[in-house]
Amino acid sequence: VLKGKTAVVTGSNSGIGLGIAKELARAGANVVLNSYTDDAADHKLAEDVAAEFGTEVRYIQADMSKPDQCRALIEKAGAYDILVNNAGIQHVAPIPEFPVEKWDAIIAINMSSAFHCTAAALPGMQKNGWGRVINIASAHGLTASPFKSAYVAAKHGVVGLTKVTALEEAGKGITCNAICPGYVLTPIVEKQIPDQMKTHNMSREDVIAKVMLERQPSGEFATVEQMGGTAVFLCSDAAAQITGTTISVDGGWTAM
Ligand code: NAD
Repeated sequence: VLKGKTAVVTGSNSGIGLGIAKELARAGANVVLNSYTDDAADHKLAEDVAAEFGTEVRYIQADMSKPDQCRALIEKAGAYDILVNNAGIQHVAPIPEFPVEKWDAIIAINMSSAFHCTAAALPGMQKNGWGRVINIASAHGLTASPFKSAYVAAKHGVVGLTKVTALEEAGKGITCNAICPGYVLTPIVEKQIPDQMKTHNMSREDVIAKVMLERQPSGEFATVEQMGGTAVFLCSDAAAQITGTTISVDGGWTAM
């Protein structure tokens, strides 16, 4: 379905980004993987994904907290078909104690990088008359939880940016949508468990069942493959008139 298209997925050497990159490759797309590191393991990962799916896969290092590096990623990729803005970090603390540098980093990586990458990719998409921008927001782009001020603010911002991008590009063959995952068991979630255990004074099992999945009526984590399948759908012809909206993949979280 996506043969001949190239997808740039920010923050894709692990978790949801990697899961989306693999499903896009399975659908035939060439893929650019990215993170801020430049390790042998990153380039090996690109080789492995290429070997698994038989498409072209490159790894391009770029730090999504830096506007110029966001724009350089798109330039180096040299392709403007599919952009998945996925890079993201988390920090959990009450507002009075929330470290300023964490606030700035979360706003930069989780929200502003989507703006910079989109700004760099749109002219190429306009020239092609086809493009797909997929922003990985969150159930926290639609609802809130205590202790996640920067993350919730950034993800609500991403949902707003999604709508503006869609309006500006409507009728040009370019769509922009946000996928809003509920809890997916990836490294970003693993890392929250110790903090949540401290904040709530709970065991690991209780944090998973009573704090994380308590909000997710299915009682199950969503998977990275399900995020990838949703991204492939948004790239398909069936989704050509879906733009400026959010798709929740959250086991019913936002229905509550
Ligand atoms: P993850 O920690 O596995 O992945 C985050 C990715 O971003 C990694 O590849 C990491 O290397 C990359 N990254 C971090 N800082 C970067 C930087 N400065 N420059 C470039 N890349 C950077 O976590 P994940 O769960 O896969 O998260 C991916 C996205 O999905 C994030 O935007 C996150 O907010 C969102 N999300 C995750 C969940 C969940 O439950 N896991 C739920 C909702 C939304």
